[in-house]
Amino acid sequence: MTDSDRDGVRPRVRVEDVGRRYDSPQGVVRALEGVDFDVDAGEFVCLVGPSGSGKTTLFRIIAGLEESTTGTVYLAGDPVEGPGPDLGLVFQEYHLFPWRTVSGNVGFGLEQQGVDRDRRERRVRDLLELVGLDGFAESYPRDLSGGMKQRVALARALAVDPDLLLMDEPFGAVDAQTKRMLQSELLDIWSETGKTILFVTHDVEEAVTLADRVIVMATDPGRVREVVEIGTDRPRSRSDASFGEYYERIMELIRA
Ligand code: ADP
Ligand code: MG
Repeated sequence: MTDSDRDGVRPRVRVEDVGRRYDSPQGVVRALEGVDFDVDAGEFVCLVGPSGSGKTTLFRIIAGLEESTTGTVYLAGDPVEGPGPDLGLVFQEYHLFPWRTVSGNVGFGLEQQGVDRDRRERRVRDLLELVGLDGFAESYPRDLSGGMKQRVALARALAVDPDLLLMDEPFGAVDAQTKRMLQSELLDIWSETGKTILFVTHDVEEAVTLADRVIVMATDPGRVREVVEIGTDRPRSRSDASFGEYYERIMELIRA
């Protein structure tokens, strides 16, 4: 079997029996226990669940920013042993550098990789166009709205062309109308680029709008309650009967 054959059958992300405990003054916190799922290349998977169900902890483990207590995460077949390059992260808090312009923020990872100035500038220009921010290259984060800052964060994550994007409640802090725009833009980018996306949200409507599959988490211990496959074609409309059915089903699982 050649390498590419093997890649074809390997899940892009394999989370295998992952657990994470923390010791706290109140006792042991079981942030995650026995979490087990795969994500295929090119899939869009949403994680929903109550606050404290371990979603952020799981992302940090997948990103290699934190170690699991048990189990292993594999990215394209290789166990995660620390932060790696082939992964883009987007958080609710934008984490932009305030002293850098928009293009300085987006180009940061390329600078780190030693990409020369000309190529960097071309790439940054393309990315700003992709996220709808052409014309803002020389602006500073303080001059942007929340939705625009989140576009910058997305462009920055895409800059080094990672296969995998981990997005942790990225649209949690923007208004409803902007959120819908960002959702539809993200779906466009996803279908154009073929990225694998793992996306945490507490907004069930958002999960049903975006995902191929929704992983519903439960708390204490943080674990997978159920995985719901969303079978309808995109773009999806909130007024479709099936949309409401998925929505109710997932809400029930979260409340259970
Ligand atoms: P979610 O993102 O689903 O809201 P988190 O992953 O942030 O959940 O947290 C899961 C559980 O682990 C919570 O009970 C949280 O308080 C606990 N936790 C997370 N990080 C730490 C830490 N560094 N030390 C102690 N407890 C933690
Ligand atoms: Mg969280």
